[in-house]
Amino acid sequence: MKLIPTLRDYEKIANKNEIKEIKNKIKFLKSKHIVFINSTYQGGGVAEMLNSLIPLFNSSGLKVGWRILHGYFDFFRITKAMHNALQGDGLKLSKRKKQVYEAVNKRFSLFTHLDHDLVVVHDPQPLPLVNYYAKKQPWVLRLHIDLSQPNKEVWRYLLKFINSYDKVILSKKEYYNPDITASWNVIYPAIDPLSIKNKPLSPRTCKKYLDRYEISMDKPIISQVSRFDKWKDPLGVIKIFEKVRRKRDVQLVLLGSFATDDPEGQTMYNKVMHAAHKSKYSEDIKVLAVDSDILVNVIQRRSAVVIQKSLREGFGLAVTEAMYKGSAVVASNVGGIPLQIQHGYNGYLLDPYDYNGFVEHILYLLDNENERKRIGRNAQISVKEKFLITRLMNDWLNVFIELLK
Ligand code: UDP
Repeated sequence: MKLIPTLRDYEKIANKNEIKEIKNKIKFLKSKHIVFINSTYQGGGVAEMLNSLIPLFNSSGLKVGWRILHGYFDFFRITKAMHNALQGDGLKLSKRKKQVYEAVNKRFSLFTHLDHDLVVVHDPQPLPLVNYYAKKQPWVLRLHIDLSQPNKEVWRYLLKFINSYDKVILSKKEYYNPDITASWNVIYPAIDPLSIKNKPLSPRTCKKYLDRYEISMDKPIISQVSRFDKWKDPLGVIKIFEKVRRKRDVQLVLLGSFATDDPEGQTMYNKVMHAAHKSKYSEDIKVLAVDSDILVNVIQRRSAVVIQKSLREGFGLAVTEAMYKGSAVVASNVGGIPLQIQHGYNGYLLDPYDYNGFVEHILYLLDNENERKRIGRNAQISVKEKFLITRLMNDWLNVFIELLK
């Protein structure tokens, strides 16, 4: 089995012209050296994409480095609060919080030398770095957050860093805010069809993992695969499951991992465990805090219905992953999810607070295998057309060429 796929391996799955374009663009950029910076190597969609994208760029001939900001608990508590505030929460930005935030970035700049031709920074954690370097090259800021209703105080504070960048990339055009003075555009995230998380699996492998985690194959699985985060609303998923369980004999799997840059994960996990234990249907609820790509693959693939009941969602790669596997997804109509799902065609979209709507659509899918198959087939087609990593490579290469030509 090939653990590190190269561009050639994607020829069977992705659009051939797209692959040709990648090769030509990389030839054009040949001697350039680029660096991506974010704040975690695992957990969440950003790390997921970089884990595939960066080795693939390098094995295709473009030198792209990856640096990870060195934070600590208190720092990540502050940046998670900022992340929450950018998605609409309140936050009192004290002088101390700003000092910690800026000091961690300044310190990183003292030992991380950036002699690259272009720097790409992801999300708010390493955002201030731009102000601690003698800027010798273009800097790009990639914001993955739902920015449609940012907290004003936090937004104003962060703007002084944001507007030092040469280009800002967002996940959806509606996230653009006219306070951004730099040029901007939209790049949709994407999945890697050849990663362990997404590649085809044999029924035997699926069975092995379901057995290992004591998930019965006798009852249909309803699942949500997400970090333990209030924005993913796992407690709401349990409520919906209880209503479904009253009517059908099904089981719920909540699979989540922790990200090193999200210190709220443990608290949310405890709340989820508590709700699962006290549920009347606790025997049919499996909460798994396991960091395993293959288990994500198995669960998304073997679920009768996949839920993504997010309250906010920058894009929602977990939705893309489930759709790619041909699973029927019932999801909230928020953030990046409607970029992926057209209601009734390749999944179902509901208001995140429409509990009865979720229940109704889940029941409908559970009772109609043909409908599940139809939705799943359309979902697979949509992802192949729009959300594969080769398209993402092309989009990034366009940005590199624009800024380095
Ligand atoms: N994920 C994972 N293990 C888990 C839960 C989530 O690997 O137990 C991955 C999931 O497969 C997806 C990413 O975390 O690749 C979540 O990305 P998404 O854009 O859905 O949400 P984010 O966590 O970035 O807000």
